[in-house]
Amino acid sequence: MILRAYGKNADEAIRQASEHLFDMDARWSVTRPTSEISRLNQSDGVPISVSSDTFDLISSAIHAAEQFPGAFDPTIQPVMELWGFYRDEPNLPDEHALNEVLLSVDASLVTLHDDGTVSVPTGVRLDLGAVAKGYAADRVRDLFHIMGVESALCNFGGTVLALGSKPDGSDWMVAVQHPLESSAYLCTLAVSDMTVVTSGGYERYVEIDGKEYHHIMDPDTGYPCESDLLSVTILTESGLYGDILSTALFVMGYDAAMTYWKESRDFEAIFVLKDGTVSMTGGVQNYLVS
Ligand code: AMP
Ligand code: MG
Repeated sequence: MILRAYGKNADEAIRQASEHLFDMDARWSVTRPTSEISRLNQSDGVPISVSSDTFDLISSAIHAAEQFPGAFDPTIQPVMELWGFYRDEPNLPDEHALNEVLLSVDASLVTLHDDGTVSVPTGVRLDLGAVAKGYAADRVRDLFHIMGVESALCNFGGTVLALGSKPDGSDWMVAVQHPLESSAYLCTLAVSDMTVVTSGGYERYVEIDGKEYHHIMDPDTGYPCESDLLSVTILTESGLYGDILSTALFVMGYDAAMTYWKESRDFEAIFVLKDGTVSMTGGVQNYLVS
């Protein structure tokens, strides 16, 4: 993670942002037993009081599941667990166990109450990995605004926040990772007041018996989604929206993703397809440097 900020209060803003990021990770980590998410995952349906941004994040993730059924589901945790993605050495899951946990992969089973509590039934477990970084990027931007920082570039790993422009007034340069070559860039974007979020199977995967299994799941089958995409990069103002889209459109595949873009037109995207083709939505050319 890299945080760079410029101008008045920049050092103090970076210090506070780091603290805030550490705190968000401690509350939303799916592997820390003391996180708010772990407490919810062990709550057996008893309503649990959570901090207001945790409530907000869960609410956004549930709405995303309603918007992208069959593609996005924040209750994917039991599937990730069975595949061993929270350990160093992932493994093929037991079929029977996988079919069993799939019954509880359903975001509509999580209930948000008006008093700020959340109910997660026994067996249902949250993993906010597909939205947490984008949401955190938005919170860092809020913090910088409050502190009067107008120029910053932060890289949260797959999620880049470009706040304002460079101190000299020119755009920030953001390189988009090439999904097939770890040391190469696909392209460079000149952006200001933008988040650039990338999802791809290449980020985390395991090879078992010569076949690669990546970490973005089809919530209907419990297997890594059979996408025709290698990566999806989203350009949006909202980091949260970008993070939701990068994951959901990756699972949906290229045709459905393009259809969604044509209907909404409130983001831009760069797709790398498995056949090596690179496809960009119409507005990307306004940002493309090379
Ligand atoms: P991202 O890198 O934003 O695409 O998020 C991927 C992470 O989100 C994975 O490592 C899992 O923790 C979680 N995840 C995997 N598949 C899904 C899915 N279909 N919907 C929501 N979250 C998912
Ligand atoms: Mg995402």
